[in-house]
Amino acid sequence: MRTGLESGTYLRFPVRPSLLKEKANYQTCSPLEDMMKVTVLALSSCLAWLCQAKPSFPEQEMDPAYWNSMAQNTLKNALALEHLNRNVANNLILFLGDGMGIPTVTAARILKGQLSGHSGEETELEMDKFPYLALSKTYNTDAQVADSAGTATAYLCGVKANEGTVGVSAAAMRSQCNTTAGNEVTSILKWAKDAGKSVGIVTTTRVNHATPSAAYAHCVDRDWFSDGEMPTEALEAGCKDIARQLMENIPNIDVIMGGGRKYMYPKNTSDVEYPGERKHMGTRKDGRNLVKEWRERMKGQRGHYVWNRKDLLALNPHKVDYLLGLFEPGDLPYDLDRNTETEPSLTEMVEVAIKILRKNKNGFYLLVEGGRIDHGHHDGKAKQALHEAVEMDRAIGRAGLMTSIHDTLTVVTADHSHVFNFGGYTTRGNSIFGLAPMVSDVDQKPFTAILYGNGPGFKMVNGVRENVSTIDYSENNYRAQAAVPLSMETHGGEDVAVFSKGPMAHLLHGVREQNYIPHAMAYAACIGQNTRHCRSVNSAPPSALPVLSSLGALLILTQLLC
Ligand SMILES: [Zn+2]
Repeated sequence: MRTGLESGTYLRFPVRPSLLKEKANYQTCSPLEDMMKVTVLALSSCLAWLCQAKPSFPEQEMDPAYWNSMAQNTLKNALALEHLNRNVANNLILFLGDGMGIPTVTAARILKGQLSGHSGEETELEMDKFPYLALSKTYNTDAQVADSAGTATAYLCGVKANEGTVGVSAAAMRSQCNTTAGNEVTSILKWAKDAGKSVGIVTTTRVNHATPSAAYAHCVDRDWFSDGEMPTEALEAGCKDIARQLMENIPNIDVIMGGGRKYMYPKNTSDVEYPGERKHMGTRKDGRNLVKEWRERMKGQRGHYVWNRKDLLALNPHKVDYLLGLFEPGDLPYDLDRNTETEPSLTEMVEVAIKILRKNKNGFYLLVEGGRIDHGHHDGKAKQALHEAVEMDRAIGRAGLMTSIHDTLTVVTADHSHVFNFGGYTTRGNSIFGLAPMVSDVDQKPFTAILYGNGPGFKMVNGVRENVSTIDYSENNYRAQAAVPLSMETHGGEDVAVFSKGPMAHLLHGVREQNYIPHAMAYAACIGQNTRHCRSVNSAPPSALPVLSSLGALLILTQLLC
């Protein structure tokens, strides 16, 4: 609800210069001061008048016909959904925006529009075009506000789990190696592989980070990236690091792309891209070179390893059956900071992945993670986070052009939200990184529309809140103000959106537990534990039914005639 603040604190509508002049004349100043003030006021209000004489939105929006016709079109599209797409999904794609809560989706939409010169609010993200929507309850079994490991186990393995653990049920306890055995749960990526599909993982984080690792690993600690990060007791008790599990658990993952090179090489091995830099050196204590092992295993199987954009884009996907792409020692850089010569974008990685995977007639399962939306928010750097989200949306659009809703179920969701938000009665078309159009009526200072509930953006200058108009708040690494100081901003606890399109996309609707997602996706693709419906006549793709029935009619007619 809007309050008197809106009309009392700032002027939303232009004020005629003559009125300001009148007001100025009542002030008790010297005649010269008076004259100067009046001139300045008259000039500035004249400028304001010129700028605001036109509405701040497209003129067509004043016409009810514009809104009525748009709504009628939307209604027509909604009515078309009465004919459900019950095809079998040959292909499954899951786009996971790490930390992409609903405020992030809305802000990314506005940013996308503003990047192409529009006011932004009316823009459609690629995910906005998906016909079905659900809300996912993200809590972990032991946490109200979730982390990315327990949630990954939910939306990949179909089972809710404890925070910090991947690919194990809630009977396994974080960091307790001896609770692993017997509590492993498998992922939809494995169900797809077992059903003869090709499978792929593409991420902007390390390939052994929380989200992708739940697709192939069973680990009670998400931070056990290599044995170099593991406690000796856990190693002695037989627990395996996540990089090793990537190579051993499902040995023929067709496409793996992301960062995380250093976890594949023996300790102190110099990195190919950053030779001699200590922080980028190999971390493995067991002396194994997992990249070399992978290359040897793939010899004669059209397997390729690449570590830079040039080599990736030089590949002919028709001649590649297995691809390991490790583009950084750790996570990939933020898209805004990316060296476009050496580092591939998420969209480029997705395009190559689909070209390789779709060669399999049995179809594919692809997990794509926009993993650094989360990191941008943790840093309080909203601009980085939102550009990551816009880039993931671009990848969703590219995947949409390369696949068909007749045989590909695409789902877009997040693991959890963040304490990120934007507000402040900003006007239409206001830069998403801009200021609210008023100052605080408590400390008399301006504030940005984007704010965090907590995080590193909390800042006091001389005991009071920093005046943001004295700094560059539109800079890439600007940290938006936070209410509570924390070195790392936290996740948010509210539900996240699940967008879906393609065969059986309608199964993803309503407010659902997060672990339902892979169950619905597997059902649509006739893989995993529930495939009875696939054997019945009704499950034949609708497109095949008219052909079958015409053949049947022809057969009956032939018998009648003979
Ligand atoms: Zn996070």
